[in-house]
Amino acid sequence: MSIVETQEHQDLRAAVAALGRRHGRGFDRDTLWSEAGKLGYLGVNLPEEYGGGGGGLAELSIVLEELGAAGCPLLLMVVSPAICGTVIARFGTEEQKREWLPGLADGSRTMAFGITEPDAGSNSHRITTTARKADDSDGGGWILNGRKVFVSGVDITDATLIVGRTEDARTGSLKPCLFIVPRDAQGFHRSQIDMELQAVEKQFELVLDDVRLPADALVGDEDAGLLQLFAGLNPERVMTAAFALGMGRHALDKAVDYAKTRQVWKQPIGAHQAIAHPLAQAYIEIELARLMMRKAAHLYDAGDDAGAGEAANMAKYAAGEACVRAVDQAVHTLGGNGLTREYGLASLITASRVARIAPVSREMILNYVSHQSLGLPKSY
Ligand SMILES: Cc1cc2nc3c(=O)[nH]c(=O)nc-3n(C[C@H](O)[C@H](O)[C@H](O)COP(=O)(O)OP(=O)(O)OC[C@H]3O[C@@H](n4cnc5c(N)ncnc54)[C@H](O)[C@@H]3O)c2cc1C
Repeated sequence: MSIVETQEHQDLRAAVAALGRRHGRGFDRDTLWSEAGKLGYLGVNLPEEYGGGGGGLAELSIVLEELGAAGCPLLLMVVSPAICGTVIARFGTEEQKREWLPGLADGSRTMAFGITEPDAGSNSHRITTTARKADDSDGGGWILNGRKVFVSGVDITDATLIVGRTEDARTGSLKPCLFIVPRDAQGFHRSQIDMELQAVEKQFELVLDDVRLPADALVGDEDAGLLQLFAGLNPERVMTAAFALGMGRHALDKAVDYAKTRQVWKQPIGAHQAIAHPLAQAYIEIELARLMMRKAAHLYDAGDDAGAGEAANMAKYAAGEACVRAVDQAVHTLGGNGLTREYGLASLITASRVARIAPVSREMILNYVSHQSLGLPKSY
């Protein structure tokens, strides 16, 4: 991996940034999604033989970051092409790849991802959504029961990739299984959670009540376990970092523009170091986090799942923190205007906190680094 971005990546950045500028903050999600899909941006990471761009997370993260920097982030990119597309491309059957990947790549089909449960939260080993094999005399296939929470975009996606466990592995360390559950499957109930977030993608609580699925709803191997799950979770972390970096850059750009022109003494407020230095600090932190995100994407794309795990966690942590601080400072830089609808920064205070909580919280990443990287003992 070169520290300097390749010309190809710079060109991709410039092209996506131009698309983002055309749509801007008041963007219509569906229009942008379909345009980005047609241009090949949504499936840039997916294999060429199934309609993708043949690239990897390095490219997909550039797309999301640039759209976010232009004020029009597509949250579902974290889930549909990055988690679901990757897991299907790596572990799906030939039929599943043919059925899903072309649509995920051009954006005409989308998939949500559900792992979080009300009683498990950060402790995924405690998830209880259970898949039972139905007898052949009973039609065969799988029967799923369980509950999920905070799952994004279930209303606008064609299906949700649900993480469960088989009945044989109902207790103990998680041996996850992944199932494609169509949006309108019988027994698959959703209710929207009333969030304070201003975003087109809503969050849902899900109830799976004897949801019957065909045998081929299972993606990959029921014994593949965590390897298969992390093939999706590491991309999710890298893409959440891209989401956070885009938002942080968007906020910082607005604050810098404002600080150059707003004048209440002899000089624009940007001349006061109390305003300039925190903005410079935010810029540095965003740049540093981007370097770690690129490292994580590079390791993942190179097939180094173990190396990518640590880097993806660190990138998500660094980008989340950089985003929260950049947004906070941006709002402050605008004074009263920082809290007006017109400038559109105040709503980012809530949005930026998502990057600190999801998909894995700041504390759980610090736990990971404490245990995995530093070898410190666990408290839990
Ligand atoms: C906007 C949004 C979108 C989301 N989209 C999805 C989605 O599409 N699909 C999906 O499956 N999930 C989704 N989530 C859920 C998200 O991944 C969880 O909120 C997250 O994993 C944290 O789980 P929790 O909310 O249950 O918090 P908890 O696990 O209850 O944690 C609460 C607090 O306790 C801390 N904590 C917990 N355990 C420890 C520990 N051992 N040591 C130190 N601190 C600890 C946490 O860091 C956190 O600060 C979304 C969440 C949000 C906010």
